[in-house]
This record gives sequence, C-alpha cells and structure tokens, in this order.
Amino acid sequence: MLQFISLSSGSSGNCYIFTEDHHSLMIDHGIGMRKFKKIVSEYKINTDEIEALLLTHEHFDHSRSVGEFSLLSGIPVYAHGSVHDAIQQNPRLYKKIPLPQRRDVTCGENFIVGCFQITAFNVPHDSVFNLGYFITTPSTNICLITDIVSFQPQMLSYIHQRRNMVIQSNYDPEMLQHGKYPAMLKKRIASENGHTSNQQTATILSQNVTHNLQHIFLCHLSANNNTPHLAQHTIEEKLRETGCNIPVTPLARTSPTGIFQLGD
Ligand SMILES: [Zn+2]
Ligand SMILES: [Zn+2]
Repeated sequence: MLQFISLSSGSSGNCYIFTEDHHSLMIDHGIGMRKFKKIVSEYKINTDEIEALLLTHEHFDHSRSVGEFSLLSGIPVYAHGSVHDAIQQNPRLYKKIPLPQRRDVTCGENFIVGCFQITAFNVPHDSVFNLGYFITTPSTNICLITDIVSFQPQMLSYIHQRRNMVIQSNYDPEMLQHGKYPAMLKKRIASENGHTSNQQTATILSQNVTHNLQHIFLCHLSANNNTPHLAQHTIEEKLRETGCNIPVTPLARTSPTGIFQLGD
C-alpha cells in the first residue's frame, strides 16, 4: 500500500509525503519547519525514511523550507535546473540547498528513488518552470499536477490510465466573479497566467477517466474563490456523467487531511 499525506495545500503552503514499504518521498516543502515537525510527530511519520525531496517550482508556497530541510536531512533535492537556480538566487530563501544535494530533472526521463519510479513533465505556470510528477510504486501509481494554467495535450498521457491523481482545482468562476478581488487580479486568475477552475479540472478528468482510476485528490484550492464542497461537488458531478463514482477528496489548505492508503 502507498500511504499519502498532504500536510498543507494552497497558496499559504504545499507539502506532500508518499510512503511505501519504509521508503518515503516528499513533494514540495512550502510550510514552516515548526509546523512540519508538529504534523510529522502527530502522524508518526518517520522523517528518516524520506529519501528525496521533489520540487514542482520555486514559488515560496512550495519552497519555503526546502533549504532548511535539505541542510538538516542531507537528502537529494530534485527540481528543474532553472528552478534550482531561482531558489539559489532568491534572497528570501536564505538557507540554500547544498550543491552536492542538487539534482537537475529532465522532463520525460525516468529516475528511481527507493521503491519509487518517477517521471517529471512540464506543467505550464507563471514560474521559471513547473513540474508535474508521475510516480509508480510496487503497489500503485499516482500523478501530481499543481499550479497549472491550462491543460496541454502533451500532459494527457500522464493523466490517462492513472490510478490516483493529485490535481489542482483552484477556483469556482462564479465565486471569483462575485468575490472581492480587484478586477485585474480576477482577470489574471481567469486568464492564461492563472490557475485552473473546478470546471476545467472536471472536464479534463472526465475526458480521461478509465476504470483504473481509484481516487482523486483536489489540491491548491483558493481560500476566497472556492470551497472544498463546491470543488468536490463539481468534479464528482462531471465524473458521474461518465459513470465514474470514485472518491474525490479536497485537500485542506492549512492542515493535513489524514493519511490515505492507496493501492491494492
Ligand atoms: Zn502554489
Ligand atoms: Zn506557483
């Protein structure tokens, strides 16, 4: 079984841990170390088993504690080369990833960490680069896509046939329209430089759903322009039209949503 926990998911911090057979992998470390330590002790997660940290992109909500954690743990940090450079140059991230721990990821290339077989692919976003990850373990597979502007055809092979998905479902267009954001920001969110809506995520999932799909986790929900219930309902309803009734779980923005057991 693959164990999955989201420690936080959204614009105030993102951090995910995957564990199978005493091997663990972390994606992003965008939360404070104090909060991180509190959650891992609460959920009895053995951080010594974390063998690598994978980064999606350089934004602060994904990279806040990457330097500190890499210094403490000594583990390799995988990211696109330009993301490593951006973190290195960001004065706000004053604790740096030690050079010997830096691993540059190439899109489409396979690499192995513990029992995880990983492929990274490009996910369009307003960062220097952004990676999605497709991870295969002995028991299952999972694909993570966050901070995405729009779904591109070349990404579909990573979505199609997956058993588990962690996928962004950022905003509800109605809530955004009637919300209190300034017009410029509304436009940015709803435009090509922003994030994907519940409806866009629902459509892409429903078009690529197969009988292999077992669980969908919705990540990076907006605090002001979405609700967990609305995101879940929109995606479930669209999936039901295709006869798919699998669990859809919105991940909480600032706290864990429990440990999920995935796989056969
Ligand atoms: Zn983000
Ligand atoms: Zn971002």
